[in-house]
Amino acid sequence: MKSINRRDFIKLGSGSLVAGSAGLAIPQLAIGATKKVVVIGGGAGGTIAAKYIRQSDSSIDVTLIETNKEHYTCFMSNEVIGGDRKITTIKHPYDGLKKYGINIVHSMATAIDADKKTVMTASGDSFSFDRLIVSPGVSLKYNTIEGYDEAAAEVMPHAWKAGHQTALLRKQLEAMDDGGLVVIAPPGNPYRCPPGPYERACQVAHYLKHNKPKSKVLIIDAKDKFSKQGLFTQGWKARYDGMVEWVPAADTGGGITSIDAASMTVSTDFDDYQADVVNIIPPQKAGAIAEIAGLTDDSGWCPVDLGTFESTIHPGMYVIGDASMATGMPKSGYAANSQAKVCAAAVVASLNEIEMADPSYVNTCYSLVAPDYGISVAAVYRLAEDRSKIAKIAGGLTPGDASPDALQREVLYAYSWYDNIVADMFT
Ligand SMILES: Cc1cc2nc3c(=O)[nH]c(=O)nc-3n(C[C@H](O)[C@H](O)[C@H](O)COP(=O)(O)OP(=O)(O)OC[C@H]3O[C@@H](n4cnc5c(N)ncnc54)[C@H](O)[C@@H]3O)c2cc1C
Repeated sequence: MKSINRRDFIKLGSGSLVAGSAGLAIPQLAIGATKKVVVIGGGAGGTIAAKYIRQSDSSIDVTLIETNKEHYTCFMSNEVIGGDRKITTIKHPYDGLKKYGINIVHSMATAIDADKKTVMTASGDSFSFDRLIVSPGVSLKYNTIEGYDEAAAEVMPHAWKAGHQTALLRKQLEAMDDGGLVVIAPPGNPYRCPPGPYERACQVAHYLKHNKPKSKVLIIDAKDKFSKQGLFTQGWKARYDGMVEWVPAADTGGGITSIDAASMTVSTDFDDYQADVVNIIPPQKAGAIAEIAGLTDDSGWCPVDLGTFESTIHPGMYVIGDASMATGMPKSGYAANSQAKVCAAAVVASLNEIEMADPSYVNTCYSLVAPDYGISVAAVYRLAEDRSKIAKIAGGLTPGDASPDALQREVLYAYSWYDNIVADMFT
């Protein structure tokens, strides 16, 4: 591992950081006494924070606490649901991170003691820290749709955390008769992966079109507009005309308010719908450990300094990814990756008592309409001068008149994006 001295670090620190998956100009250090960083959550945010801290300053002792031995990425899980991808291709072990000297602990973090600066785990161990990074993703708010609880999710899967739930939804689609009705119920904002429910509708329709062509996909939304709406609507018309129908909140009085799993019925204020497969995506909040640790506010999300991701409630603790209130950025895997790199730089700077540079951030989100039809949105951001938001400074969408070749290329870019982000996370 390359090292540089403190003067070089400060020189670099006065520049600006661009935090993308292509790499971040975090200076590399190997100085000073051991400082301890604990990272909770080995997903899109946590893996990157742990790895980039170790790469930047090998004198920092990093422990990554993650419940599961393997991580199923939510990204590309819609393609598993559509049947074109095997679930094993989205499953990743953590072994590749060991070469960075990260201490990987497979247990659930159950409590954080802010005064003693320790994290307790379900296995009864405790880990002390100088800085803590929390990236636990989201918790599902089961209580907000009447009748929708964890037991109901085994009948009407959310598939909003990948793994068992993804496989369950896929199995239900396979078991459904031709002519069946699939209901997808997206939540109101903010939630994990704004275009995700609409990509899912495409992937489900793709499977049905080729296997059960008399079936229908009905999206009963809790919103009146959604991410990449024009492009999705165009894609549905081009590929799944008459098969996919989107119902805005205005037409139902706000979307689904209750479900009955036994009769496979979902209800809005105005109507009841009996379906064959139901995908309820409930409203969300920060992962449970963030709430237990008192890192959330009344919104259920974690307020942070947007230039460092340090909690504005508990100094010394940082929150990245879906759980954070990264005002201006969507809750996406690539956003979590970018935030993790900014946060890693901030933690290294803070432990070495040097100034943090001005960060930049990136996000790109691909959606697969069909195997030869992709769409995307991309943005570059920087911190607003008053630090009140992460302000978009450039970006773009797939053009509405993109050629078939260009749409096909977007699919290849999406696959390449996936390979790159999982390589960044796990190798
Ligand atoms: C269907 C779908 C499709 C998506 N597609 C895309 C896409 O194409 N592009 C994109 O950029 N994003 C996509 N996303 C969004 C992306 O998956 C999330 O935004 C991203 O994973 C957030 O990263 P995170 O680190 O906050 O949480 P996660 O990646 O969910 O990681 C959280 C980790 O923390 C662990 N954990 C939680 N609590 C504890 C605890 N107490 N102790 C120990 N471990 C704990 C969990 O087991 C998990 O491994 C998609 C999401 C969905 C649902």
